[in-house]
Amino acid sequence: MSEKVVKKEEIENVQPDVLIVGAGLYGLTMAERIASRLGKKVLLIDRRSHIGGNCYSEFDTETGIECHKYGAHLFHTSDERVWEYVNQFTTFTNYIHKVYITHNGEVFPMPINLGTINQFFHTAYTPEEARAEIAKQAASAPIEPLNLAEQGVKLIGKPLFDAFIKNYTAKQWQTPAEELSPEIIKRLPVRYNYNNNYFKDTHEGLPTAGYEAWFQNMISACGENIEIRLNVDYFDDPEIKKLRKAKIMTIYTGPIDKFYDYKYGELKWRSIELEKEIVEVDDYQGCPVMNYADLKQKYTRIHEFKHFHPERTEDCYAEGSGKTVIFKEYSKTWTRDDEPYYPVNTLDDRERLARYKDLADDETNMIFGGRLGEYAYYDMDKTIASALQKFDEIKEKLGS
Ligand code: UDP
Repeated sequence: MSEKVVKKEEIENVQPDVLIVGAGLYGLTMAERIASRLGKKVLLIDRRSHIGGNCYSEFDTETGIECHKYGAHLFHTSDERVWEYVNQFTTFTNYIHKVYITHNGEVFPMPINLGTINQFFHTAYTPEEARAEIAKQAASAPIEPLNLAEQGVKLIGKPLFDAFIKNYTAKQWQTPAEELSPEIIKRLPVRYNYNNNYFKDTHEGLPTAGYEAWFQNMISACGENIEIRLNVDYFDDPEIKKLRKAKIMTIYTGPIDKFYDYKYGELKWRSIELEKEIVEVDDYQGCPVMNYADLKQKYTRIHEFKHFHPERTEDCYAEGSGKTVIFKEYSKTWTRDDEPYYPVNTLDDRERLARYKDLADDETNMIFGGRLGEYAYYDMDKTIASALQKFDEIKEKLGS
């Protein structure tokens, strides 16, 4: 078998203007902007066999139900720029996320709202009465909470914190709440009315035709200016090594500590394990996500994907389908072979990150971005916002 010899000029001819490592939302947004706005040649690589990163979903072959392979991803934003941007590539359904939580054999609405409070205390408080009662229960918390435990008690008082947050958080993070950032719990709204929508953003919905269709439209917008190579590892692939040597402009969205071969040690992550089951009932739990507050159940929550698309009319979503897909979610200590999901972000991590960032700042032609590259607990919209912002900063340099 004769191998084609690639001459030096040929390599130079195919050399892209920009290499993007990772086809998640940050990488895709950057690729789309650079290829379609600046007309530059982009090579987008991913070590997985698909684009979309952790937002990727696939239609289950047995039932036809769209399942979010890496756990439920719900799109919501109050950022008008991001909303306008994503609507170029997909329409969104009217889906509004609802979560319930099982505690002590009873089901409560989440996030904590007047319904949760009245059910938990067997009361019929008005909004004002509930506010006054929770304020009393929260009085022991410091004015400036320094960690998740203090922040939780400040927000909802000790009894509700102990019931709905303490053990769930212990299961999810396996790190004492006293060592976790107060920011984590600020993600959840607390409401003194009966509104139990999980999010409080201006816009919310799921991509009408699924996540993959959305991302494919972003790729199509790049026209001829993009090449995608899947199953390619930035650290091992011989062709990519050549591009690295040539110091080609690179946008790296992998873990920043891995890039530096963990020279200052690992940044701590939590990983998850999703256990898929096809259950032979029309409806397993009656809602998209059921959290489990107690230690008795080892999983943190169960996702039932059918409920994410009540607007779909295919048989598999209809009453009488006789099947549903659920994922049980377990938290898992992260090791280098696992997918990193949640940055634990302890004080140690933050110090370590600062050292890695110092190294990153000294790089030429290297941009670190996204959840892994920035070691940030980003929602989808924040990832896109971060990419759009970075694009604004670099577009002149790149375009010249
Ligand atoms: N949380 C909790 N109980 C719940 C839901 C959330 O204690 O029923 C806490 C937990 O610490 C979690 C954080 O709130 O990590 C943020 O929850 P969110 O649902 O935003 O997490 P994600 O969906 O990103 O996993």
